Amino acid sequence: MKLFFQHATVLDGTREMLPRPMTDVLVEDGRIAAVGALTPPPDAQVIDLAGKYLMPGLCNLHVHLPAGGRPGKQRDQKKLAQLVLHNPVVKRVAFSVCKAYAEDELFSGVTTVRAVGGLSDIDTTLRDRINRGAADGPRILAANMAIGPVGGHMVGTVAEAAQSEEEAVKMVRERVAQGVDLIKLMVTGGVLDATVRGEPGVLKMPPALIRACCDEAHKNGLPVAAHVQSAEGVRAAVENGVDTIEHGSVLDQSAIDALQNSGGAVICTLSPAFPMARFPRDLLGISETVQFNSDVVLRGMVEGAKQALEAGIPVGLGTDTGCPYTTHYNMWRELVFFRKYVGVSAAFALHTATLLNARLVGLGDETGSVEPGKSADFLITDGDPLQSFETIRTPYMVVMRGKPFLHPKAKRYAKTDAVLDDYMP
Ligand SMILES: [Zn+2]
Repeated sequence: MKLFFQHATVLDGTREMLPRPMTDVLVEDGRIAAVGALTPPPDAQVIDLAGKYLMPGLCNLHVHLPAGGRPGKQRDQKKLAQLVLHNPVVKRVAFSVCKAYAEDELFSGVTTVRAVGGLSDIDTTLRDRINRGAADGPRILAANMAIGPVGGHMVGTVAEAAQSEEEAVKMVRERVAQGVDLIKLMVTGGVLDATVRGEPGVLKMPPALIRACCDEAHKNGLPVAAHVQSAEGVRAAVENGVDTIEHGSVLDQSAIDALQNSGGAVICTLSPAFPMARFPRDLLGISETVQFNSDVVLRGMVEGAKQALEAGIPVGLGTDTGCPYTTHYNMWRELVFFRKYVGVSAAFALHTATLLNARLVGLGDETGSVEPGKSADFLITDGDPLQSFETIRTPYMVVMRGKPFLHPKAKRYAKTDAVLDDYMP
């Protein structure tokens, strides 16, 4: 099967993201065979992209597949999560929900997601189904359920509590047996479970527990991602083996040193912090303390990302989809936040969301740029993404492993989008 994408302006995913006008891309059996000024092979299907922009599909490094991000839709999450574990019918329903959300990611131009906290073994099962070609969706790196301490962040929904080091190791092994791609830990608290004003990211996971999980994960060749929202948490995480700091915070010098020594990365997720910190509270139904703490987290994440970039520590991007006002089809907004708040160029933001993100999770040879040999994962837009990220909002076409989707439509929430549009920076 040969596809010939003709006359596109190609943004290749590299750091400069230099637009290459009137460029052709030949795809054979799902892989990029050639890029340049080419002659279409006689047996290729020609797709004319004159006036369109072709870039690598986006990598979203932080999603939770069970939740959609529509505010006010949080039912009794814990009860539901328990039912999924014990009731096969509920589990099948939850699977369909996750599958639909994964499709929304794809249809909004995201061709790779890293699922960092889900229900039961749904992330790995869905990943395998998509890989077999039995469902449409992005490439999934799956963590299944996160592991946390007793009383930890999201424990009882997308995380499971380990009482001891032995139990934590057992949980890592269970996930290894499920075939996960990474282990997710809940090292600090979060905005919604913080009780003290000004302390959203209290260290909750004992260092010995972090160490036990990381050692067992690394022994099995798996990286570890950790929810961390304070400098204290960053230090504890990195010093005990965590590879990627999810969300992040203001970094003190020892946290910076620890990250530099470990070669770790920070995965910035501004999409949920922005509405929580900036929207009127009645839209969110949160207390003054939660909003205050959300502001601490937002500022901390922005400052931490700037510090990391300055110190040569890589910063990746994810949306933390599932949080209120953070949907599965809005990664373009994360790019807007990253650009505005962290102060990077449009080209660097696009490079981060594609090739850099892919490299950070070991997929740099597989996806993230428009280069021969790589998977044909493309996001094709009517407008120039370097001029406006909003053109990504309604892709002209998304191509996943060589399969094109013309005018793909994610399921959208008009009200949620309208509020977000009103407040966008
Ligand atoms: Zn998360």
